[in-house]
Amino acid sequence: MQQANFTTALIPPSMPTEGFQIAPLSSWLPAKNAPLVIAGPCSAESREQFLTTATQLAANPRIDALRGGVWKPRTRPGSFEGIGTPALDWLVEAKQLTGLPVATEVANKHHVEAALKAGIDILWIGARTTVNPFYVQEIADALQGVDVPVLVKNPIHPDLGLWLGALERLNAAGIQKLAAIHRGFFAYETGPFRNEPKWELTFELRTRLPNLPILCDPSHIAGRRDLIAEVSQTALDINMDGLMIESHCNPDAALSDAKQQITPQTLGQILDNLVVKTPHLQNIEAFQSLQAIREKIDQLDNEMIATLARRFALVNEIGILKDRENISIFQLERFFGLMESRQEAGKNQGLDAALLRELFQVIHKFSVKTQVEASGDLNS
Ligand code: PEP
Ligand code: MN
Repeated sequence: MQQANFTTALIPPSMPTEGFQIAPLSSWLPAKNAPLVIAGPCSAESREQFLTTATQLAANPRIDALRGGVWKPRTRPGSFEGIGTPALDWLVEAKQLTGLPVATEVANKHHVEAALKAGIDILWIGARTTVNPFYVQEIADALQGVDVPVLVKNPIHPDLGLWLGALERLNAAGIQKLAAIHRGFFAYETGPFRNEPKWELTFELRTRLPNLPILCDPSHIAGRRDLIAEVSQTALDINMDGLMIESHCNPDAALSDAKQQITPQTLGQILDNLVVKTPHLQNIEAFQSLQAIREKIDQLDNEMIATLARRFALVNEIGILKDRENISIFQLERFFGLMESRQEAGKNQGLDAALLRELFQVIHKFSVKTQVEASGDLNS
């Protein structure tokens, strides 16, 4: 098992966003079996490739909708950029053949017009488009008064504001059949993943828009076939509303994202092995045990808070002393020594060193702040 990669970037406290009107996912894309799954190739490459993949996928009752990229935003020029408008007809043909709704990516108003004219059921906005409010607004304007579901992928980099902003622009244009897609974030160091998951950003999105469905795209997070099952399971463990997974009838020959595409058969196996979690416990005994453990945790947290208060009283005392003796507040050696010894002590207790590092970085930051304020008080 790879690390689940829950980084703990500090996020400012937030409030739910007001005024959003969101239609429940089940009203426009009901899941036949939990979880909801949208699957299909990264790109619709040929009529044969798309219809073969679509038919194989549709044979599995776990698949609820088909995807296929028609206009492909490629980072570098010279790679396959999609078939464009003619491929829309293959998607519509697949829909007639399988009875499944079809989704494609739109990046400007011409794409929107062509997709709607062809009869595409669901549109999505890609990560390279969500980053640009001009493009998003152009798409929102083209959708004014149109009742079509739109899925909004997170922007390439971890900027929650751009993600929310795109959702707000679409909602203001009257789109209520909205969902977010979490496809991970660009980072220089992504660990085993192509795009760093930063799951905590989806928690933050949930606190801002509690009714917004959030789907996970394990293919673009993982970037490789062998991690798709694990990322999909993490998505279900944290209660995401569904999955969008790239699947191709011949992945090795795919013209885009070959390394992360899987056959419909492999996808079927992965889906069979996923464990669907529920947000609430049904079993009364298990519920009581959960409550009892939570009470113990509450008690420990209260003890930690009392300990922190005692620690900060001492920090304040040090601030006064340092100010009186005219010595600088930030002492590099002390900082390094403290960080090292706390991580070591944590490790001895079986705790993750990264937890101790981040925790004591925050504690130290506020200790410095407390001391600066203590000396300010004396000098004023
Ligand atoms: C895609 O879904 O094939 C795609 C281009 O995704 P993203 O916008 O997440 O990179
Ligand atoms: Mn892709």
